[in-house]
Amino acid sequence: MSEKASLLSVYKLLPQTNCGECGEANCMAFASRLLERSKPPEDCKPMIRETRYKKNFAKLVELVAPPIREVIVGVGDRAVKIGGEEVLYRHQITYYNPTAIAIDLSDNMSAEEIKKRCKAIDSFSVQKIGQELKLDMIAVRAASGDPDRFASAVKLVAETSNFPIILCSYDPNSLKAAVESKGIAERRPLLYAANKDNWKEVGELAKKHNCPVVVSSPNDLDTLVSLSSTLESMGLRDIVLDPGTLVEGGLLKDTVNNLVMLRRAGLKKTKSLGYPILVVPAVVWAAENPDPVTTSYRESYIASLLLNRYADVMVMRTLDIWAMLPVVTLRQSIYADPRKPVSVDAALKPFGTPNETSPVLITSNFALTYFTVANDIESSTVDCYLIVTDAEGLAVEVGVSGGQFTAAGINDILTSTNVADKVKHKRLVIPGKAARLKGEIEDVTGWEVMVGPQDSSQIKDFLKKHWEAPKQKT
Ligand code: SF4
Repeated sequence: MSEKASLLSVYKLLPQTNCGECGEANCMAFASRLLERSKPPEDCKPMIRETRYKKNFAKLVELVAPPIREVIVGVGDRAVKIGGEEVLYRHQITYYNPTAIAIDLSDNMSAEEIKKRCKAIDSFSVQKIGQELKLDMIAVRAASGDPDRFASAVKLVAETSNFPIILCSYDPNSLKAAVESKGIAERRPLLYAANKDNWKEVGELAKKHNCPVVVSSPNDLDTLVSLSSTLESMGLRDIVLDPGTLVEGGLLKDTVNNLVMLRRAGLKKTKSLGYPILVVPAVVWAAENPDPVTTSYRESYIASLLLNRYADVMVMRTLDIWAMLPVVTLRQSIYADPRKPVSVDAALKPFGTPNETSPVLITSNFALTYFTVANDIESSTVDCYLIVTDAEGLAVEVGVSGGQFTAAGINDILTSTNVADKVKHKRLVIPGKAARLKGEIEDVTGWEVMVGPQDSSQIKDFLKKHWEAPKQKT
């Protein structure tokens, strides 16, 4: 978002008729949605329809555009947005588009190997805090040096997978052969890359096929700016910056410094630098006979480091779950919106096959708390009911201190879930971290309260030692 964008400056450019066609009550509300990026300018239909708003619409688009351009690779449901960031530090607002992870493959592979790798990339999936963490793109490397072979490999990838594709070659003929293969340009691949030797041909190819394009200049930001500016003068706007991923000879620090300088300059709207950044942690595999374990480990920590330092898209090679897990988990944490605690719905959840004498436990609706407790209960194979109370997405201890995890809230969820009809007792196990609410919960709900363990991994032992359901309701 532009530094000069304010609610009033956005509102002034809108028609101010309060017609409601955008789905908002009035233009001021729509201005607010634009500023928080929950709606695009195009949702104001009168501005699209009526020529008298044309100038203001162009100004509006410019005003609300993030300083780092949002570039889309691919089409349809699998299209990936990269860039679009507004701040250097996540806590200033939030980061918007999670770093896209592309896994590479080579045109030297056999057709069977290519298909197998595409399927492995497609099926990579990790469940974490209620979200499915997946990979995003496939990068096809022209390692053979043969444009026809490269084009065939790209075609096979496109037939096997619907992931967005990065076409990797410095040879304009190879890029041309691949992008002009049937159906490839329509998939809007990312062309990697234009450099100081081939920028004219690659730039023209990107322009002709309306594809996003990477400009590459390893450890030379002056040339990178010059390339970016040259491609802009050719009319290209969907540009991605590759400042090089140097990891050997003590140059990793230069790589990090370059990324930080690029992002700072981009956010300050320095000409030709307001674009997403691409890095290639897969370069660690360039060593002769790399040891697969140490190289995967190295790739994993370098990717994590660069993910922390503004990489918007990363090309990686390892598919080892132990190496990829830290990367996708870190990405999930960094790109979680700090303005909204990650929460689950308040509800009654049965575990195993609970009956009328089974324990009733309670926890908060902070997603991390809920999934930790749920995993601990599942792994200990306890039959019970777990009530998730609305603590405004906060953890138990924080909710107790801040007044979001309350006796009144617990009373509401006990009532709305009708848990009293499912068990023949009125005994509730609360988290150890909510011990100080015991008396108040008993007073408000009429249920007997047992203070459970501080740590949900102790639930099984706790219930074994202490749980004995009364024969009838007390
Ligand atoms: S559609 Fe446009 S003119 Fe109508 S209320 Fe929304 S912002 Fe205002």
